[in-house]
Amino acid sequence: MTMNPVALSLVLIVLIAFPAAAAFKTPVIREWTVMEADGPGKTKEVTYMTIDGIMVHETDPAIQPPPPVVTPGTDSTQPPSDAVVLFDGISLDAWTSTEAGEETRWIIRDGALMPTPHSGMIQSRQEFGSCQLHLEWATPAKVEGAGQGRGNSGVFLMGQYEIQILDSYENSTYPDGQAAALYGRQKPLVNACRKPGEWQTYDIIFHRPEFRDGKVVKRATFTVLHNGVLVHDHVELSGGTGWRGGHAVSHYEPHGDKGPLQLQDHGNPVRFRNIWVRELED
Ligand code: MG
Repeated sequence: MTMNPVALSLVLIVLIAFPAAAAFKTPVIREWTVMEADGPGKTKEVTYMTIDGIMVHETDPAIQPPPPVVTPGTDSTQPPSDAVVLFDGISLDAWTSTEAGEETRWIIRDGALMPTPHSGMIQSRQEFGSCQLHLEWATPAKVEGAGQGRGNSGVFLMGQYEIQILDSYENSTYPDGQAAALYGRQKPLVNACRKPGEWQTYDIIFHRPEFRDGKVVKRATFTVLHNGVLVHDHVELSGGTGWRGGHAVSHYEPHGDKGPLQLQDHGNPVRFRNIWVRELED
């Protein structure tokens, strides 16, 4: 196939300007029109189509397999049947310290996972790339501190990318560091925080970044619901979320295809429950 130079340069401009867009999988659509019998002596024009080689409304399960059946949890505190359960209120087995060779010093109290003083961060033993993540958290009912010092924790995808956990109920701080912020990169669309001490949910759809020759070639994306409210709508993460100082920025650093889920100990006894992951295709 040949492409005229104008069209080719337009494609190149799009690829250069929107490298991530080029990484999305575009379905291959093929359409064709045939004349078919439509009663005695009559014909009609009918258009057919395949998407990725499969006819529209294909019924043969060998060609168009039905999606697997997943049993949703019986209420919002139960994981669906195909989830990797990382915390069920009973066992810490799925977790370890982020310090090599150390066991976690986090504890389970009344079915909730929480740090003890100076216990450090924890991480999942299993590593994940692109995934759907559900977790529930509660900041202390007794309000202490202000700004970043009030109910601070965080959940890190792939041990890298922090979605901030903070008591942001009538507690001001820099918006790109409040609850549900992609820390230092993107403030949430709205502040959907519940009151201190109340259980809150994050539902996160994360697609991992990809790297080539030491550079990011596909940025991570986040869709996040906080207490069921959309706070990030397929946001492309512009770089790293690490703290480097007051107004300093962190950049993407190349890493592998999978990494652990981490929970932050920021010196506040933030509690967690019902943590589960469903792995996704990139
Ligand atoms: Mg934090």
